[in-house]
Amino acid sequence: MATTSKKTAPGAAAKTPRRPASKAAPRPAPPDTPEEAAGNESAAGEASATEAIYLGLLTAIMEHRLLAGTKLVEERLCEVTGASRARIRQVFARLAHEKLVTLVPNRGAFVSSPTVDEAREVFQARRVVEPALAAELALRATPAKVRSLRRHAMEEDNARARGDRAAMIRLSGEFHILLAEMAGNAILEKLIREMVSLTCLIITLYDRPGAPACAEHEHRQLIDAIEQRDAARASALMAEHLEHIEGSLDLSMPDSGAPDFYSIFSKG
Ligand SMILES: [Zn+2]
Repeated sequence: MATTSKKTAPGAAAKTPRRPASKAAPRPAPPDTPEEAAGNESAAGEASATEAIYLGLLTAIMEHRLLAGTKLVEERLCEVTGASRARIRQVFARLAHEKLVTLVPNRGAFVSSPTVDEAREVFQARRVVEPALAAELALRATPAKVRSLRRHAMEEDNARARGDRAAMIRLSGEFHILLAEMAGNAILEKLIREMVSLTCLIITLYDRPGAPACAEHEHRQLIDAIEQRDAARASALMAEHLEHIEGSLDLSMPDSGAPDFYSIFSKG
């Protein structure tokens, strides 16, 4: 089967979410022998192909190129990625587990639309976890970690300078993931990854026009506190920063204010 890998037309790929260049799995060359064909079908190869589709969709959600409520058409994704329906469904299941996608029986998969209450819960959880992680990182700060944080802040500046809002939103979120990664607790890091992606969706739904995702100077102040190994200050700055992000959202409307068309129509 691997020898008949169907090539997608170049134009067809244009509408797919961009795969992160560093993590995308390259399409394997056609195998010369049956042994090689069997090798290409290896579990590792399949896992990395699934991962590439997952990362493509995740990045598109984080960059607001896939908006809350968007239907994810299974056939179309099969067509542009060359993956089987089973594999696409596997990716949907993972994203649904992370609450980024909602699976509606007989209707399909949709990018989730977190409610106002869910948005508040996400920020409440972030306020509990992230100040503690920032304090922990301040205690473990090394020059290499600080350099890496500053490099990331510079990437945020570059995106801002070229007016690339999609990259700005994604990089803002990734700054928080990087902090969690460096703090060295894998369970909390996973939690932060999920909450940061959910926050990106929440921002698309409830952002006040013109409000920035993360104020750049606040990230820099955090890095300064971490560099100075000032745990109390790093914790306080992170708590303040999260309050500012939540404050830039309009969460005053009742839940019914956010239209949720697919659940409305799925009741009929
Ligand atoms: Zn931030």
